[in-house]
Amino acid sequence: MSLNAESTAFRSALEVIRAVEPRVADAIGAELADQRESLKLIASENYASPATLLAMGNWFSDKYAEGTIGRRFYAGCQNVDTVEALAAEHAKELFGAAHAYVQPHSGIDANLVAFWAILADRVESPALKKAQVRQVNDLTEADWFALRRELGNQRMLGMSLDAGGHLTHGFRPNISGKMFDQRSYGTDPVTGLIDYDKVAEAAREFKPLILVAGYSAYPRKVNFRIMREIADSVGATFMVDMAHFAGLVAGKVFTGDFDPVPHAHIVTTTTHKSLRGPRGGMVLCGPELADQVDRGCPMVLGGPLPHVMAAKAVALAEARWPDFADYAQRIVDNAQALAEGLLRRGAKLVTGGTDNHLVLIDVSGYGLTGRQAEQALLDSGIVTNRNAVPQDPNGAWYTSGIRIGTPALTTRGLGGTEMDTTAELIHTVLSQTKPGSNADGTPSKAKYVLDPALAETVSKQASDLLSGFPLYPAVDLG
Ligand code: PLP
Repeated sequence: MSLNAESTAFRSALEVIRAVEPRVADAIGAELADQRESLKLIASENYASPATLLAMGNWFSDKYAEGTIGRRFYAGCQNVDTVEALAAEHAKELFGAAHAYVQPHSGIDANLVAFWAILADRVESPALKKAQVRQVNDLTEADWFALRRELGNQRMLGMSLDAGGHLTHGFRPNISGKMFDQRSYGTDPVTGLIDYDKVAEAAREFKPLILVAGYSAYPRKVNFRIMREIADSVGATFMVDMAHFAGLVAGKVFTGDFDPVPHAHIVTTTTHKSLRGPRGGMVLCGPELADQVDRGCPMVLGGPLPHVMAAKAVALAEARWPDFADYAQRIVDNAQALAEGLLRRGAKLVTGGTDNHLVLIDVSGYGLTGRQAEQALLDSGIVTNRNAVPQDPNGAWYTSGIRIGTPALTTRGLGGTEMDTTAELIHTVLSQTKPGSNADGTPSKAKYVLDPALAETVSKQASDLLSGFPLYPAVDLG
């Protein structure tokens, strides 16, 4: 039997790896088997195409290429220039952006590039000029304080973590929380939606240098036109982190007021979530910020990853194909079908539904914490992650929410009928799980009681559901 190109490529790669360290080859094979078997509802994950995956596994990984296209600090970068330029061209065309910087290694890195570009653009600071020629990691705590003082304790206004914002939007566990004096806007306690009047009020009081929009766990569209008006009214730079929904922007599901690119001064993203590319980041901006953005390496980034930029070029080329728009629409249709299925069965959803790729279940409606729900679902073959809900009484560790998303299952081809079955499986597990107790009889926020036979039945149903939608169908590892 002759093998197709994809099977041959991956089999050969594993054979070469196995000859050196068989345990790595085995783990790679096991990862494919695990991914094929799990009902993956993690909103930030997806399955990149074989072409995207293969573009990463080669000698581009060997090349140093600090600098920008045509202006490198290393010789021999002509082929890196080719792939970086292709990725940037595809990104500009796809998103209608004047400038694209495709070097960031991740979403966090893309945000750091953007923050420093904005600071350099907006604030006159000799300390910053000094820091720009050194690696940020070399700065001491005292340097940081001096820099921050000199930068004038610049302010950032972003979405609060429990309303769905991201750590990199000025929160303490991330360096953005040390760089900026941060304040956040939340959501309306009744509707769960962003209250733009409240954002405007916070902006007027706080006068931020940067207004950030974007989220990891907000199940609704954001009106970027209104946010830009708010930013303009206080002279703030408007930044959007579209890490989660970049695929919906690329696929033209989010257009007009809901497309961040025409409204923001600067847009950051990951490339591996709904955009379905390799693990990485990217920054889009107009000509005013382009020079500062291009200083990302070495200001905050190590040398670019040419193999990942090659994969970004491949994935962005795929996202320009008409069927990507169809894929993006199906992501949202599936999230809505999942939300409707859950609501019909009595689940409590933050904002009462979704208009993007994710659904946030408030599992306090089932008498559970997010931690208990996440584990009970995992026991039943359903992979999700716990997430805080607005004003969460259980905090960020135990939480009261479960975040589920449809980009990955939509790539596998599941549709509305399968979403309803998925809702049924989730509801069955959550309604049959009971909170557990500690050894001393006090209620536990982590322990739970779930009949193992039920977990096994649901696991079997989940794997039956997936069997009709093979993952990487053309890849046969033998
Ligand atoms: N920004 C947002 C909104 C995110 O949700 C995430 C990741 O979850 C990031 C940035 C960080 O991305 P990465 O993990 O690639 O650094």
